[in-house]
Amino acid sequence: MAQREISEEDLRKRVRALLEEAHPDKVDQFTFRGKLYDYGLAWVHFPEGFGGLGVSPGMQAVIADELSKHAKTHYDDMMINAIGIGMGAPTVLTHGTDWMRKTLLRRIFTGEDIWCQLFSEPGSGSDVAGLATRATREGDYWTVNGQKVWTSLAHVSKWGMLLARTNPDAPKHAGMSYFLLDMQSPGVEVRPLHQITGEAEFNEVFLTDVKIPADRLMGREGEGWKVAITTLMNERTAIGGGGPTRRGAGSIGVLINLWKSREQGQFSPDAEILLRDRITKLYIEAELLRMTTQRGKAARKAGNPGPEGSVVKLAQAELNKRIWECAMDVMGADSLIYEPGYKRRRPTSRAREGRNSLTKYQFLRARANSIEGGTSEVMRNILGERVLGLPGEPRSDKDVPWKQIPRSA
Ligand SMILES: Cc1cc2nc3c(=O)[nH]c(=O)nc-3n(C[C@H](O)[C@H](O)[C@H](O)COP(=O)(O)OP(=O)(O)OC[C@H]3O[C@@H](n4cnc5c(N)ncnc54)[C@H](O)[C@@H]3O)c2cc1C
Repeated sequence: MAQREISEEDLRKRVRALLEEAHPDKVDQFTFRGKLYDYGLAWVHFPEGFGGLGVSPGMQAVIADELSKHAKTHYDDMMINAIGIGMGAPTVLTHGTDWMRKTLLRRIFTGEDIWCQLFSEPGSGSDVAGLATRATREGDYWTVNGQKVWTSLAHVSKWGMLLARTNPDAPKHAGMSYFLLDMQSPGVEVRPLHQITGEAEFNEVFLTDVKIPADRLMGREGEGWKVAITTLMNERTAIGGGGPTRRGAGSIGVLINLWKSREQGQFSPDAEILLRDRITKLYIEAELLRMTTQRGKAARKAGNPGPEGSVVKLAQAELNKRIWECAMDVMGADSLIYEPGYKRRRPTSRAREGRNSLTKYQFLRARANSIEGGTSEVMRNILGERVLGLPGEPRSDKDVPWKQIPRSA
């Protein structure tokens, strides 16, 4: 993708011109974000005509800064359409057909179409390339049968990114194809899975004789793994890169505030020293991670991220869990009461209806950070093999036809 230059001042002028036409404090989400897209300010590194200006992705921070100076309303991409924006859009841009780019990108950005990712299966999570959902070509259609699991937001999604096996005779990575699935198609059944928070953010998805038109293939038949890598690399960057931009903001800010509001004599002098030491170390780590993430964003070139995104994802997940654990320790016995209760809920978006602000909710939700988007163990494997160049794990099933690999079911 060719990268062009634009001065920071010109970009700021463009933002101000947009605000004259559609101000987020005065128009609705879809109108405002639609205009952002039309002005090329949605994903500034995307090509012109597709929500971008073809400039360095680092310039996105300039847009965010200018918007924050003039508008109170702030839309967080991760809340609007986390999977569509973080992973769907770059995948469509890189591997989609012209029809897909023209039809899908704008609606992803505005949040009119929510997206989900149908990769994981009961027998294939970390080893997603071993998946068993089958797609068979029948004339102008593919017929899909199988089961997916942990599919976040499938219950509110219009489109799904579906990875399915199209050639069981090929080795596992070579026999998959990548489809755009209309989640309202007959044969798609979505059932909630409840998490430790009491919510059902994700689902089981059963696919029974689902028909997908042949032109909904992304990339070529048998090249699904290549397309999936684009999705996964962007997923790790979206999850890992989503940390705070301001010093002391985010989870560490909540912890510091909790610590400051502790009661006199709440802890013994020894416990006080130990906790203060722990919080100081967490603060330093959070600040280092924030700066590393910001530096990475500023230096990013146009195009899809590489395996380095796994490093930030790993660090972010592990640190976040420790910060919320420490917050629970600062709360002491109070932390044992979970005010939202375990009544089953079904969130309609990532906003989780205000629960984001609840420390105890965050403590429970953070347990998923080191699993979602690839586990911390798998991130360490990627870091070792693809960033540091260490010898790979032994993989005996790599060149064997998929159908000969032993499976439990
Ligand atoms: C909140 C949440 C949302 C999710 N949303 C989605 C979604 O929208 N779409 C989707 O497709 N998936 C989604 N997932 C699934 C997620 O990607 C998988 O859970 C994850 O990849 C791990 O797969 P698994 O659960 O099958 O565990 P397994 O792969 O069975 O792993 C079990 C354990 O073995 C370890 N392990 C496995 N292989 C290795 C190895 N080679 N080396 C070292 N250790 C290993 C793992 O680290 C883990 O501790 C979501 C998960 C969560 C928690």
